[in-house]
Amino acid sequence: MSTQPIIRVENVSFAYQLNQDQQVPVLQNVSLEVFPGEYLAIIGHNGSGKSTLSKHLNGILTPKEGDVIVNGINTREKERIHEVRSRVGMVFQHPDNQIVATIVEDDVAFGLENIGTAEEEMKERIDFALEAVGMSAFRHRPPHHLSGGQKQRIAIAGILAMKPQCLVLDEATSMLDSYGRHDILAVVRKLHSEGMTIVTVTHHMSEVAEADRVVVMEGGKIVLQGTPREVFSHQERLQELHLDVPDASRVAALVHAEYAAFSPALIHNEEVVAEVNRVYVRPAEASGS
Ligand code: ADP
Repeated sequence: MSTQPIIRVENVSFAYQLNQDQQVPVLQNVSLEVFPGEYLAIIGHNGSGKSTLSKHLNGILTPKEGDVIVNGINTREKERIHEVRSRVGMVFQHPDNQIVATIVEDDVAFGLENIGTAEEEMKERIDFALEAVGMSAFRHRPPHHLSGGQKQRIAIAGILAMKPQCLVLDEATSMLDSYGRHDILAVVRKLHSEGMTIVTVTHHMSEVAEADRVVVMEGGKIVLQGTPREVFSHQERLQELHLDVPDASRVAALVHAEYAAFSPALIHNEEVVAEVNRVYVRPAEASGS
């Protein structure tokens, strides 16, 4: 992993301005770096500021205090905001709100048209983006006939067409059924394996277990961070923060409390199966009982 971050969030504080006298303070002195190629998950209870933070990553919101630097560009530089947005693309929660055209390929082309991409290049990028999300066969269809998961894949294609370095997903699977979620996760996993930087805001802990790093938010601050294994080892702290852990972590902690030899630091279901084998089945086989 390169040491130069793609995104630097430096001491950012932010408040929503309700009217002249009233504001809702949300982010408080948040600092965070996102490195090329990493898969970062942001978790936290409802209202902890995850979405507000993620909207700072491509300049949809700008800090009240502090700075967000994307590849050397400060997101306060309004005249360069299109450069920021083409490097860091964002997918939101509601599939319907992100569709702007009546034909899939026009929808994917929307961002490219805005930056005046030449026709031949545009065609190549649409081909590439639809292929990347497995939606080439739907190119000439009207998006409103698609499922939620397919619409989210089209939204991701629209971003990929801009050739970003980083994809930010703000609860992008939370409105989808399990099939749609599965498809989106498969696309994200593939993009990440090909080098795309991923930042995901999610409350699905099985998704978080796939990340390289997890940031936990509470009251507009980062209160815990580390690898999924490190973060999910703090089960009591996560409980205080009203956060879940993956099923595998819960099971591992319960069994560990009874049998110390059983590792508590498990986050994937397959690891639980392997640990059962290691601790119970194999020793029994070895002793011939
Ligand atoms: P999360 O994504 O963790 O649920 P959000 O960033 O959406 O948190 O919201 C953090 C806080 O900011 C919440 O108290 C929420 O009510 C408030 N908030 C979010 N959006 C707005 C807005 N547009 N205007 C005023 N308050 C907002």
